[in-house]
Amino acid sequence: MNIKIPENIPEAAEKVLIHLLKGNENFAKGNPTTKNMTIETLQKYALYQEPFAVVLSCSDSRVVPEIIFDCGIGELFVVRVAGITAGPNVIESIEYAVKKLKVPLLILLGHDDCGVMKYAIEHFPDKTGDFKSILSCVYPVLKTGQTNVCNNAFAREHTKWVEETLLSTSEIIKNAVSENKLYIAKCHFDHNTGLVNFID
Ligand SMILES: [Zn+2]
Repeated sequence: MNIKIPENIPEAAEKVLIHLLKGNENFAKGNPTTKNMTIETLQKYALYQEPFAVVLSCSDSRVVPEIIFDCGIGELFVVRVAGITAGPNVIESIEYAVKKLKVPLLILLGHDDCGVMKYAIEHFPDKTGDFKSILSCVYPVLKTGQTNVCNNAFAREHTKWVEETLLSTSEIIKNAVSENKLYIAKCHFDHNTGLVNFID
């Protein structure tokens, strides 16, 4: 594995992150190993769950966290929404994973060729058409930059903005991070390599 793990990461999150990045490497190399996808796995977790990470990813049909990270049933608490747009229900879903399930790692997973980024770039700053609540979670990033940006670069900027939004909006997430109980990894999924890369 040639990805450098951030130095300031708490131990529990580091362990999970290394596990997920190894899983991602398995996926990218075409060698998935997970076995935890059977009815027996589901029955084991019939009355409880203990996922080791929460992943906020796009609804995009090409971005499937369990497959990308080579994981099975009961391992990831996944919040999927178009454009990883962090509205109230999405934020509270993440809060549930942090507060109740005590996951040590949150992965924000933006990706290549995101339809929401392309739509926002195309329609900025119009707020009169469709997808109002989604655009309201994306337009603030465009306000500070140019609208003739590459949508993949924009997606990375948006992922950074999502982290800032979560930290400024959610007491639960902010406190968990400041107490070293939660680490937020800002990531981007590359469609050509299948690899998940950190965003600086
Ligand atoms: Zn997308």
